[in-house]
Amino acid sequence: MNSMNSGPETTNSPPATAAPATANNTVAATATVITNIASLVTNDPSLGWGSPRSSTFESGGGSPLGLIQDAAVVIEGDRIAWIGETSKAPATDNRVDAGGRAVIPGFVDSHSHLVFAGDRTAEFNARMSGQPYAAGGIRTTVAATRAATDEALEANLTRYLREALRQGTTTFETKSGYGLTVEDEARALRIAAAHTDEVTYLGAHIVSPDYADDPAGYVDLVTGPMLDACAPYARWIDVFCEKGAFDGDQARAILTAGKARGLHPRIHANQLTYGPGVQLAVELDAASADHCTHLTQQDVDALASGDTVATLLPGAEFSTRAEWPDARRLLDAGVTVALSTDCNPGSSFTSSVPFCIALAVRDMGMTPDEALWSATAGGAAALRRTDIGRLTPGARADLALLDAPSHVHLAYRPGVPLVSAVWRRGERVA
Ligand SMILES: [Zn+2]
Repeated sequence: MNSMNSGPETTNSPPATAAPATANNTVAATATVITNIASLVTNDPSLGWGSPRSSTFESGGGSPLGLIQDAAVVIEGDRIAWIGETSKAPATDNRVDAGGRAVIPGFVDSHSHLVFAGDRTAEFNARMSGQPYAAGGIRTTVAATRAATDEALEANLTRYLREALRQGTTTFETKSGYGLTVEDEARALRIAAAHTDEVTYLGAHIVSPDYADDPAGYVDLVTGPMLDACAPYARWIDVFCEKGAFDGDQARAILTAGKARGLHPRIHANQLTYGPGVQLAVELDAASADHCTHLTQQDVDALASGDTVATLLPGAEFSTRAEWPDARRLLDAGVTVALSTDCNPGSSFTSSVPFCIALAVRDMGMTPDEALWSATAGGAAALRRTDIGRLTPGARADLALLDAPSHVHLAYRPGVPLVSAVWRRGERVA
């Protein structure tokens, strides 16, 4: 069950007005039609203008977004039933006038760390005063998370989910990794699984402080009793493959053990330094290699040759004042790129996908169209999902209405709260 649509500011009642009493047999009368959409992002290039020149986004190529102007969308139950021009829209009981604004697929945030307690304001303040980011800061959050009650952890998670939902995020992945004991990791995943199907076991976030002198013993725990306790709640297994965390051999052992238990791999790879993470991700058919900030040409070639998505997390580079990942290089090589928040209290404390889009366009070489695609369809690809991240008949009715005539405004007007309404599984929730 995913309860992003719970919370005090949500409502199940779309702001509908009466529709013309025109008979139409293609959709149920109880459906909702959103009309007068200035620009509709479908993420299906075959449906609109701006078809790309190829299946990859070549520099100077067309839009991957499948844009439809003066569009309408029909929502029936939790699915998209119809899309097209407003003038051809079928009649329904419920009608919403978009007023010449843009509609986009709900954002798919495929990388977050939201089961935590505590605060790292002091660490951020110190870093912005000149100290470099190191992986060890995670221990601060581990101590606070272990000390928190279940209720406190869930309340914190729910708070950030509501915050993300108001900003257009309709699907999110989240991870454990701040417990690092069998009981605390399983607890984090149990709490997360009550709110999303995209739950990731990250017992291998850092070596537990309890095993500081015995990292091999910690890998045995992560691949043994901790995996046994966590696997029932998770779909994915992740490892922080980085100096100061886990090396390539440890990461391979952890992900291989997870695969044997039916968990699919994804990897924190090549964030702080060059390393083996990206090529290991491709070798193990990980759904995603996340961060990809320090890449050799062999890393880029490996990503281009496989089905592993490169998930870029510019909130982390922003918040640690680090070098940006080179999205342009990956796109030009034919790599599928996703864009996510990495929302966590240490290195990227933003739940805002629009903020990440603005960073990606300003500093990572992405066009506004590519950034929007990566934050929706790209995120879906990083979760190996085909039912979300697009607005086409049969897709899940997850969409956001922008207080702007075009999705380009998400980068053009950075920091402005442009998401004015959100539908999730067909219900207006924000
Ligand atoms: Zn992360």
